[in-house]
Amino acid sequence: MSELTLSHFLTVIMIEKSLILHATATADALARLRFYLPYICDQVLGLTIVSETEIRYTCKDADSVPHIESIAQALLDDAPDTKFSDSLPMRPVFDNRDAPCLCKHDLLPELLEGDHLISFGPGQYGMGHLFLKTFKYFERECYRMALKQSPEEFVYPNLIPRKLMQHPDYGIDQAPTWFVPGTQSPEHLGKPAVCLHCYPHFSKRTLPGDTTITTQGRCYRYEGSDRFSPDRLWEFIMRETVFMGTPVFVRNSLKEIETLTVEWMQSLGVRAWVQEADDPLSDSASTALRKVPLKWELRMALPASGASLAAASFNYHADRYSKPFEISEGGNTAATGCAGFGIERLTWGFLAQNGLDTKHWPESVRKEI
Ligand SMILES: [Zn+2]
Repeated sequence: MSELTLSHFLTVIMIEKSLILHATATADALARLRFYLPYICDQVLGLTIVSETEIRYTCKDADSVPHIESIAQALLDDAPDTKFSDSLPMRPVFDNRDAPCLCKHDLLPELLEGDHLISFGPGQYGMGHLFLKTFKYFERECYRMALKQSPEEFVYPNLIPRKLMQHPDYGIDQAPTWFVPGTQSPEHLGKPAVCLHCYPHFSKRTLPGDTTITTQGRCYRYEGSDRFSPDRLWEFIMRETVFMGTPVFVRNSLKEIETLTVEWMQSLGVRAWVQEADDPLSDSASTALRKVPLKWELRMALPASGASLAAASFNYHADRYSKPFEISEGGNTAATGCAGFGIERLTWGFLAQNGLDTKHWPESVRKEI
């Protein structure tokens, strides 16, 4: 795993292939190919739709051609029984579920007792002392990691206009978790993710090339009135990096940030793993794509309860946001994807596993707090 560095993705030899289709493909079928073939097959290094009957792609070697073309055919046919998940070898396998944990008891009472967390009711905590110091470590490290991908940085408002959220193709599935401050029909909502301003920001634009954005802000999710655990906050800080450009660029960038994240977690020795999310983002009309995992999560164990929390996620959106907001690259609708990091969740996951006695903590964290 550790040899998968950024340079690994750049040193490849390519061959170019032309795929002549047996029949004229529909616009939907061609869009499926363009957005999903590179995501499913990491052997695809570039892809151009030449015409309704021809696709040109580049790949690493001739050995990968039969596999690529079988996936391409399944996407064109929209075959419902295709097992694409078996074709996602580019995922860094990370499973540190057996890592030992220093702390096995419920740490929450100690955190409250020592003013490390201050409860203001369900989903609402203030932070102080060691929780705050650890929070700041994770906040800084997420930022440092984001900078490795040379992003443009933006700051967006915490509230987002309701009318943007009600765009017919935009984020409707997240409605139940939106936090609605004050009135019965407010014009603004607390945003549930920090990347959501990015798409209206770049609306109706042609990207100058592959584009990476990073942003951090406060998010709001109504998690119920009976949730007092720090992994179910109504408001929290999220760092996100958003990738916009060709599907190959977005796939590679997601893979890079996932690899960086996994290397970081390994260095901390935390009990954590990456898995397919329970709530796949795919609401695609395509039958074949319904089973393609578009969202992966970094999960951290909470040893006292035996549960785990999602501390980060890696999401491939294809054209879900770029199509309604008309974001394009090179004459085509751009692909987008994002990686999000919940800073309080990383903090809580780390503390729940390591306890409050810092002398046994990993040196890399101890020297930063
Ligand atoms: Zn996002």
